[in-house]
Amino acid sequence: MSISTSVLSELLQALPNLRPQIYFKASLTALSHAMEDQVLAATLEQPLVIASFQRERFYRQEAHRYQRLAQRSNQIYVLSAPETDFTNSSEYYEKIAFEPDDSLSQEWHLVVIAQNYATCLVCRESMGSLAKNEQLREISPSLDMDTARRFEGIWTAERGVSLKAAELLLDRILVYRPELADKIHLCRQRFGIGERLSETIAEQNEYACDIDTDPFVQRLVTYLQASQYKLHKAYRSITAQARKERLVNTISTAIRRSLDPHEILQVATQELGQNLGACRCLIYRAQGTDAKAVIDHEFLKPGVTSLLRQTWLLENNLLFREVVLQSAGVCITDTQTDARITSSKELWELVKKYGIRSWLMEPVFYQGRLLGIVELHYCNETLHDWQAGDFDLVEAIATQVGAALIQAEAYANLEVLNKQLEALDRTRSNLIAITGHELRTPLSTIQVCLESLASEPDMPPELRQVMLDTALTDSERMRKLIQDFLTLSNLESGRVEWHPESLSLQECVELSLSRIRTRFASEKLPKITTQLAKNLPLVKADGDWLVEVLAKLVDNACKFTSSDGEITIKAERNRKKMVEVTVADTGRGIEPHLLEIVFDRFYQEEGALRRTTGGTGLGLAISRQIVNGWGGEIWAKSNGKNQGSQFHFTIPIVEARQEQKLSRPRKGSKRQGTQEKTL
Ligand code: ADP
Repeated sequence: MSISTSVLSELLQALPNLRPQIYFKASLTALSHAMEDQVLAATLEQPLVIASFQRERFYRQEAHRYQRLAQRSNQIYVLSAPETDFTNSSEYYEKIAFEPDDSLSQEWHLVVIAQNYATCLVCRESMGSLAKNEQLREISPSLDMDTARRFEGIWTAERGVSLKAAELLLDRILVYRPELADKIHLCRQRFGIGERLSETIAEQNEYACDIDTDPFVQRLVTYLQASQYKLHKAYRSITAQARKERLVNTISTAIRRSLDPHEILQVATQELGQNLGACRCLIYRAQGTDAKAVIDHEFLKPGVTSLLRQTWLLENNLLFREVVLQSAGVCITDTQTDARITSSKELWELVKKYGIRSWLMEPVFYQGRLLGIVELHYCNETLHDWQAGDFDLVEAIATQVGAALIQAEAYANLEVLNKQLEALDRTRSNLIAITGHELRTPLSTIQVCLESLASEPDMPPELRQVMLDTALTDSERMRKLIQDFLTLSNLESGRVEWHPESLSLQECVELSLSRIRTRFASEKLPKITTQLAKNLPLVKADGDWLVEVLAKLVDNACKFTSSDGEITIKAERNRKKMVEVTVADTGRGIEPHLLEIVFDRFYQEEGALRRTTGGTGLGLAISRQIVNGWGGEIWAKSNGKNQGSQFHFTIPIVEARQEQKLSRPRKGSKRQGTQEKTL
């Protein structure tokens, strides 16, 4: 059994002057509670209370209130559509379970009739309100859209209207629970329900004023305040969400636009620091095992001390250790009282030096690997007031930064791979060239010699010796050629490991000269003099390679200068904070148009077939690769044929601070080893 007629419609039909209006669910909850509180506040009365809930779940939220109300009156009727265990019963008050398809399930009613006051609320939920509400909840589960449900109907303190509403509801209760007929009859008699309607309406004002409205008003004000607070909270959460999305968007855009990690981290530092009103925001690269980090990216408020390019302590930094250990961010609201800071000498000093009052440290992870750290410092006198959502925001940015760093790293790796591929390709072309032109010549000579020796057993011994010597010389030339070629290939493809150290140039020159003397032991060499400037600073280079370059240049000078000529090795500090070394000779000189070409691979003035000097044509190309490797330059000068040549190259010097630290007596042993090194 269910009734399809709406109570509201019946009421409006009976009292056509009533004007229904729209109420939000929150307003109806407030009004209902206020009406119930009014009942609870009165001590002597036994009012009639009829409450109709759309569903059992709504009733259950209020069940405890109705138990308290039952202590005030024996005329309480609660109606609801059952969902689990709501049934017709008369325990504390009368419960009336109506059919779920009864029109009551669309409506919300509360009627209170006392001797000296009466109020009623008779409303019907707007069509589609529930469905719309469900849709909104799907879109934004975090928002409480239940409060947006809308109802249409009457709320009034007019006694006549309340009596009519009570009459309609009591009629409906009787349909579901006819056994309550006597109790309801008594109730009707007591409150004059269903009688003298027009007179009652006329008397309403007299009754309506005769009550204490304080509990009612108090309750409404409390509701109003609570709603305002909820609104305020919702507004703040929406603002925080919008701020987070804006910021994440800005940083994602920067990431999409650029593959330069420097640019990305700069944008992230700036935006994050600005958005969270930090005094200082830092982002730096760090791994879990690092002892220190250099601050490369910083946002600063005016007047705050900068940390840019400073070395930031990580090893004894308890905060950093905690972040690494827990794989999560750490936030300190007050550094002055936090035990982690006050118990650590190092941290306490940092806090004092840089005026950090509140401190947040967030790790930048990518697939469990620590890539860096985001830090926020607040340096004010007053403690920083962290807002809800701040931590989420920093975490979201850290995630973006992690992705950006990995992306940039992958790109850089790709570039290195590309370079290696290009170098490999060059090596391949060179190999073809070398086998085609450079190796075939000595190989043919060796072949001719060996064939002659094999086919002519009667060859005179002197000629036989000449044949053997020629074959041996050419095979030695091939060995050297291949060795130089491999060295050059390694240098060009970046496969060489550099070990820069602080070196005394004097020692390197001596080592290269001793190598030359060994090589030209049987020949008369031109006079070699060295002119190294006094107080020459230490140079920063890989010692083995530096000796190699010096030896190659002096070797060339010896080869292309007659024994009565002169070779000078000079070195002085130039204006670019480099030491410039010059190897000058008085030999055959170089034509001006060939000054750059001599550095090309396989260039030799005589051409491959007319070589007398035993070179490979790769020495200067190798020297250029080595010098460029330590950031120097190499070039040749000559006034032309038979005017002598000068080869210049530069080496970076060791900074004054480093010089003191690194300078050490260097006597022989390591350098002696250099000579034997195969390059
Ligand atoms: P090589 O092994 O043939 O010496 P390099 O690359 O060292 O190969 O030199 C290339 C060419 O540059 C030489 O063959 C020579 O023609 C020219 N060259 C190098 N050094 C000198 C120098 N000091 N005087 C004149 N010509 C030089």
